[in-house]
Amino acid sequence: MPPPAAGSDGSVSVALELAALSALVVLLRYAAVLYANRLLATLSVVDDGDLPLPASAAVVSRARSGAASPPTGLDDAAIARLPCFVSRGAAAECAVCLGAVGDGQTARALPRCTHAFHAPCVNAWLRLRPTCPVCRATCC
Ligand SMILES: [Zn+2]
Ligand SMILES: [Zn+2]
Repeated sequence: MPPPAAGSDGSVSVALELAALSALVVLLRYAAVLYANRLLATLSVVDDGDLPLPASAAVVSRARSGAASPPTGLDDAAIARLPCFVSRGAAAECAVCLGAVGDGQTARALPRCTHAFHAPCVNAWLRLRPTCPVCRATCC
C-alpha cells in the first residue's frame, strides 16, 4: 500500500500548475482582445475626422487624404439634407459595403443620379468626398 499523503500531494501540485497555466492563457487572450479593441477605436477615430486626434493618427489621416487633394467632403448638415428613406421590397446592392440594402433598412439616395446606399455607409463616404460612389456624379 503506498502512503496516500505522497500520492495526493503530487497530483494536487500538478492540478495547481495546470490551473495557473490556463489562467495565464485566458489572461493573455483577454489582453489581446483589449489591445485589438483599442486599435479599432483608434482607426474609427481616424475615419471620423472631426474629433481631436492623437499625433500618430493625425499623421495617418494626413497621409491618406494626400497633400494634392485636401479633404472636400460634405459636412453633417449637408449630408442630412440628402433624401433618406426606409428600403422596401427588392434589395439593391450598397456599393460602399457591397452588402444588400434589405427590407426595412434606412437607405439614402443621391438626388442627381438616384443611386441608393445604406445611409451610414454613404454618410461616411460623403464626409470624405462629395461624389457618388458608383458614377462619381457630384451629389449636390
Ligand atoms: Zn452599405
Ligand atoms: Zn450615382
